[in-house]
Amino acid sequence: MAQFALVIDLNTCVGCHACATNCKEWNTQAAFGPLSDFDPYGREPQGVWYNRIMTYEMGEFPNTQVFHLPKSCLHCQDSPCVPVCPTGASYKREQDGIVLVNYDDCIGCKLCSWSCPYGCREFDEADKVMKKCTLCIDRIYDESLPPEHRKPACVLTCPAKARFFGDIEDPNSEVYNVIKERNGFVLFSDAGTNPGNHYLPRTETKVHVDEHLLKHDNPLFLEVLRRHHVGG
Ligand code: SF4
Ligand code: SF4
Ligand code: SF4
Repeated sequence: MAQFALVIDLNTCVGCHACATNCKEWNTQAAFGPLSDFDPYGREPQGVWYNRIMTYEMGEFPNTQVFHLPKSCLHCQDSPCVPVCPTGASYKREQDGIVLVNYDDCIGCKLCSWSCPYGCREFDEADKVMKKCTLCIDRIYDESLPPEHRKPACVLTCPAKARFFGDIEDPNSEVYNVIKERNGFVLFSDAGTNPGNHYLPRTETKVHVDEHLLKHDNPLFLEVLRRHHVGG
């Protein structure tokens, strides 16, 4: 069975939020929209976002690392959000593995959001229904678009080319091969959800600090770096 999914390279994602912004842009005007916002310019702005970027810092200064984790619905192959839905509004398509919500049948009970271990469901307060990433189903099958544009909005816009889209079950696909060659992994592999979306791991990098940068008369000299590198 085909399983369409995203693959995200954590090594090249720079956390620019272009994917989240273009996702919002596309899904606010497209067939599965609109996505509502509340108090957008006020004190507590809130809104429906299918794709959110989490940014984490690890380690202790100056030896810190920052990494960015874009996260949208992972289109799990054993999706717990589907069987808990009392009306059948949440469903997984057999032909491509995309998990969708039928808004006409959703009663907004939020059982699906409680069952999703990834926090990927978004309740739309305006429409009182649950929404989430559709894998841009309204783009990828749209034959009025040029073939190279039949991709999710987030993939098309990523300036770092950190996002890939395709059938992870097809050995001839780019996503299948990039997962295999670069040790792609899934979030919470022990949760039994078997996510479609995969991530490519970060590789260890060492930042080389030139000696001249550590000289006292260098305007870029930082006291904390000097302490760290010369043991002062
Ligand atoms: S657009 Fe690309 S680089 Fe920017 S946050 Fe999204 S995945 Fe990362
Ligand atoms: S990530 Fe959450 S909402 Fe998406 S298919 Fe998996 S359990 Fe369902
Ligand atoms: S696939 Fe489409 S709906 Fe899903 S995060 Fe990307 S742009 Fe948003």
